[in-house]
Amino acid sequence: MITVVMYHHINSDDLPLSNTLEMMEAHLALIAQRYTTVFPGENVPHGICLTFDDGYFDFYHYVFPLLQKYHLKALLAVPTAYILEATTLSAQQRLSLTHAQIYENAMTHAPFCTYEELREMVHSGYVQIASHSMNHVNLTQEGVNLDEELITSKAVLEEKLGVRIDSFVLPYGKYHASVITHAKRHYPYVFRIGNALNPSWEGMGGMLYRIKGDALTSPDALFRPLKQLGFWGKTYLKRIKH
Ligand SMILES: [Zn+2]
Repeated sequence: MITVVMYHHINSDDLPLSNTLEMMEAHLALIAQRYTTVFPGENVPHGICLTFDDGYFDFYHYVFPLLQKYHLKALLAVPTAYILEATTLSAQQRLSLTHAQIYENAMTHAPFCTYEELREMVHSGYVQIASHSMNHVNLTQEGVNLDEELITSKAVLEEKLGVRIDSFVLPYGKYHASVITHAKRHYPYVFRIGNALNPSWEGMGGMLYRIKGDALTSPDALFRPLKQLGFWGKTYLKRIKH
């Protein structure tokens, strides 16, 4: 089974979508001891794929140094419309927004990673980038331009970062059948939410399921037997459904 974990913020005021830096470090230290982190498509024993959504600057500021310290890989999903080339703002200024203020002030406060930072992380070998659409919109909404969200976002990232983009992370985990068909034409790996595991990198129903790693109550919360049993149960039910 392939375990994919989904995280968002570090040290954010949006508690359900965040971990404290202390919790994240203890959690990653434990993962480094017990597992091997992988990028999509890599098969190794005890492999686990760590994914971070939205490309917030707190990833570059807090998580990237930890990935280097513990030699861990992570996939970072970014919505391209919010990414600036570079910024002269201080880390403190960029981290000062509440979660609710982030999207509206993306151009003035650089609360997301910049392309400069994304390139540095990609070159380190510890981070791979996924498209998280262009505008971070619910792709099932009427009037959404799927070509722009799925294809243009990929082209922009490939052009800016000079690497192939093989992964797409559904904004809000929302989709319908034609979104998946469309996404799978351009990306081998399409991620949703769902708290299940994956029998292989083929996923289930064309999608890879992720378990929620935000708001951890302990560093090993995801790996406790009862929690694991829950993930396996969900996986069993999804396999029947798909
Ligand atoms: Zn998102």
